[in-house]
Amino acid sequence: MFIDSHAHLEMPQFDADRDAMLARAHEAGIETIVAIGSGTGPGSLDCAIQLADREKAGEPNIYATIGIHPHEAKLATEKDFDELSALARDPKVVAWGEIGLDYFYDHSPREVQRSVFSKQLELARAAKLPIVIHCRPSADSHNAWDECLEILRQRWAPSALGGVLHCFTGLMEHARPALDMGFMISFAGNITFPKAQNIRDAARELPLDRIFIETDSPFLAPVPHRGKRNEPAFVREVARQIGELRGISTENVGFRTAQNVSRFFRLPSKGTGAMPIPSPSQGAAR
Ligand SMILES: [Zn+2]
Ligand SMILES: [Zn+2]
Repeated sequence: MFIDSHAHLEMPQFDADRDAMLARAHEAGIETIVAIGSGTGPGSLDCAIQLADREKAGEPNIYATIGIHPHEAKLATEKDFDELSALARDPKVVAWGEIGLDYFYDHSPREVQRSVFSKQLELARAAKLPIVIHCRPSADSHNAWDECLEILRQRWAPSALGGVLHCFTGLMEHARPALDMGFMISFAGNITFPKAQNIRDAARELPLDRIFIETDSPFLAPVPHRGKRNEPAFVREVARQIGELRGISTENVGFRTAQNVSRFFRLPSKGTGAMPIPSPSQGAAR
């Protein structure tokens, strides 16, 4: 069994075959998907909650996040922050995100990204939710990592709520301080790309009980699907790569990382019926 800890299920890339895509995921042993709710920003902030409310037999369990992505930071208003705080109370919402800094695309001015990020840290803390971090530096730089970790140290670590560094592309020197702040590290399909040796190095070195796997669907399809649309069933390829690196089976990586996600997000165990405790940028990887 596998958990895809990060997918954008609402995106138009899935409009033609969303039901079949979710059935394929279930068929492939994906028992749960965390649907990321950043959508296309204000106006679609409840998109993941709508998917989590499907609860269809023959599909994975779906949980939701809410938050404004750094790409859309420039669109955020006080009204949107109020809406997010209200949505945060939905029982299907397990985290606030994805939030953070993207200095690669710079779709929003960097000072706006930093202030919208800091504002959402405040709101997530009030909602007592862990966070999902998106951090992407400009080319050949660690700038966004340095600034993101500094903001987390100052404004998030004291909350002790922790979070996830999603689609990790940094170095161990970025992962270590995050682990110290209670973060999990999530690996996506780019771990299979030939040039991604630094990602594989981190995935080999990190403690197995601090690792998540994800697809970031519809983006970043792993080898051998690279270049095509990604979907949650392909999270097995991420598990396969981590298993190869660590000398354990794909299934074992799936099981262990699924346990990590369930524990971290306090997902109800299956069958109890308990509730959990509480594009403007088409084509740009999120
Ligand atoms: Zn992202
Ligand atoms: Zn994403």
